[in-house]
Amino acid sequence: MNANLQQTLEAYGNDKHRLMDILLDVQAVDGFISDEAASTIAAELGISMVDVEQTATFYHFFKREPKGKYQIYLNDSAMSNVMGRADVKKAFAEASGTEWGTMSQDGEIGLYDTACIGMSDQEPAALINNVIFPSLTPERATQLIADMKAGKDVEDMYYMELGDGKNSTSKINSMVNNNIHKSAIVLDDLYKAGTALDIATKKSEWEVIGIVKTSGIRGRGGAGFPTGMKWEFCRMSEGEKKYIFCNADEGEPGTFKDRVLLTEQPQMVFEGMAIAGYSIGAKEGIIYLRYEYLYMKEYLEAELQKARDAKRLGNHIRDKAGFDFDIRIQFGAGAYVCGEESALIESAEGKRGEPRFKPPFPVQKGYLQMPTSVNNVETFCSVCRIVENGGEWYRDLGTSSSTGTKVLSISGDCARPGIYEVEWGLTVNEMLEMVGAKDTQAVQIAGPSGSLIGEKDFDRQICYGDLPTGGAMMVFDSTRNLLDVVGNFMDFFIEESCGSCATCRITSQMLRNRLTKIQAGHGVSKDIDDLLEWSEVMKASRCGLGMSACNPIITSLTNFRGMYDELIQKDVEFDECFNLEAAIQESAAVVGREAKL
Ligand code: SF4
Repeated sequence: MNANLQQTLEAYGNDKHRLMDILLDVQAVDGFISDEAASTIAAELGISMVDVEQTATFYHFFKREPKGKYQIYLNDSAMSNVMGRADVKKAFAEASGTEWGTMSQDGEIGLYDTACIGMSDQEPAALINNVIFPSLTPERATQLIADMKAGKDVEDMYYMELGDGKNSTSKINSMVNNNIHKSAIVLDDLYKAGTALDIATKKSEWEVIGIVKTSGIRGRGGAGFPTGMKWEFCRMSEGEKKYIFCNADEGEPGTFKDRVLLTEQPQMVFEGMAIAGYSIGAKEGIIYLRYEYLYMKEYLEAELQKARDAKRLGNHIRDKAGFDFDIRIQFGAGAYVCGEESALIESAEGKRGEPRFKPPFPVQKGYLQMPTSVNNVETFCSVCRIVENGGEWYRDLGTSSSTGTKVLSISGDCARPGIYEVEWGLTVNEMLEMVGAKDTQAVQIAGPSGSLIGEKDFDRQICYGDLPTGGAMMVFDSTRNLLDVVGNFMDFFIEESCGSCATCRITSQMLRNRLTKIQAGHGVSKDIDDLLEWSEVMKASRCGLGMSACNPIITSLTNFRGMYDELIQKDVEFDECFNLEAAIQESAAVVGREAKL
């Protein structure tokens, strides 16, 4: 066994539950996970090669073969496409002389697609050797390839000033911008670290849970489960150990608020986690951070140390005997489904990120089968202000069903894309005015899994009782082809399905095929009936991904039926459902014949 691998395995105590970390570390040194490394890891962890293989092949960013000295992962989200991805992609391919999806012959440059990397307000963006290159243009792409051919380090290829706020600190050193346009209780500078912990530790655990319940706060990741209730269930569950997870896997295309919160308010996130630990009786907290945010690792580790030094983490927190709580960071490796809490836990245990059957719920049997509370980054920040000011104070913000504030990530066709912290209850019209949007055709509320709405719904409120959202808002003006957007969303869900349920795995592809047929002008009215009928089937899926993967189709059909009707063939009896010429293209290419009927 090579020394590096041995060191890595020892660093994680040969613990099979740390397989994700082990694979990430091996890859960081070797560039990919070789068969030899995989087989040694299996032997040393006492698991089968299949176990290692399952994990190593599930996530987008694990590589089982070399992918190039410079690996360019260009975001393929709808927002990236709207903002000019096609020209940037062409420039990368032409300048490098490399076909997309492959590595150059000399092994220097690899060109690949990736799902949303959390930069929707500064697209097109790419991850190059784990460094984020936002606001790309064809000229910048061409220059980047020239820099690569000259053998430069990625950090020496920056083409813009460092980003705003903490992005410009030496530990982050990134061109990424926060673009915070509106702050309220979570994003303002008024919170003094440690205040909420001082208050919480003078109260009983149940009193703290009571304050959180009184506030009415619901999970800020999108599902909206009442936080106080989740903590109460977890507190009541029996377990030798308990765990707090911070879900920082924001993979919903269009969402980037957690990136900004972690950049600007890490101490609030840690403190909220510690308060959760105190409340439910957990001593360990784990931040499950998406791989795309690897550039924040050094900064967050340093911030964790600051919290320990200030006795906001560690043993006897705030000098309270018996209150011990610390946090570690667990990186994902690229899988949208891991935003689902049980899939996230599976992943943190070193496995494929497949959602579990429920019950039992994570608050009963979560990480390592112990009671676990999984909460969103923004939820933890909000908890600090709730404990500081009281549940009633928080209830006065927002609406009766949606208390408090919400951090929105707004992107697309508007003058000021970025981060806005608003009180729940804002109307879509007010939001559009706030961001300087004109000639708006549609707004995608809550990312692809949410709703595509048009002008007739712009006076509706952003809140759980009307238009709920985890924070993603995408604005499309009248020049955009909404069916292309819907198609992109469907491709995303197909790519991200974990494949466990037939309803999710197969039906999403069937819907996409029918949509493609309609887009090509071959559709008939029966196709629209099929889209609606098959969408119902998807709702029988195991997790939220499968249940909501039909939403782009359903909501666009509900609110923009005209664009479908315009494309389908009128009074056509023959349904050209199967295109024989297209179907034989691949085989014709193999045998070198022309596929012409
Ligand atoms: Fe996996 Fe889709 Fe089933 Fe969820 S619904 S468990 S993502 S196959």
